[in-house]
Amino acid sequence: MPITGACFCGEVRYQVDGRLHDARSCHCSRCRKAFSSQASSYALVEPSEFRWLSGKELLTSYVGSHGFGLQFCSRCGSTLCGIFDGVVHGVTLGCVNGDPEIDIGMHIFVGSKAAWEILPDTANQYHEQGPKKA
Ligand SMILES: [Zn+2]
Ligand SMILES: [Zn+2]
Repeated sequence: MPITGACFCGEVRYQVDGRLHDARSCHCSRCRKAFSSQASSYALVEPSEFRWLSGKELLTSYVGSHGFGLQFCSRCGSTLCGIFDGVVHGVTLGCVNGDPEIDIGMHIFVGSKAAWEILPDTANQYHEQGPKKA
């Protein structure tokens, strides 16, 4: 079963013909704004395994200073994916359908988490950046 995802209104849909990897949650103040939440929840994809199934024309992007950006559904506002130099780099876990069989392996930048957030004790926490993988 391929992994699929969709936005809140359902117009934008994608498929990943492979596995998600390096799922992480970043609690920094920038991610709180970008994800409108207490933290990001994000996993990487192999760009060649990712494809849009519908609604690609509804996507709008916000690209930051380092070439890294996010893509949203312009109709409902869901944040669907992260892009790097215009190529899909990862997906937001909130828009993934069903169980993608991956756990959030690390919670990073918990040193700057929101005052109102209570982190579960069992989470793998890093004060700043987690261990670098790929
Ligand atoms: Zn939508
Ligand atoms: Zn962050």
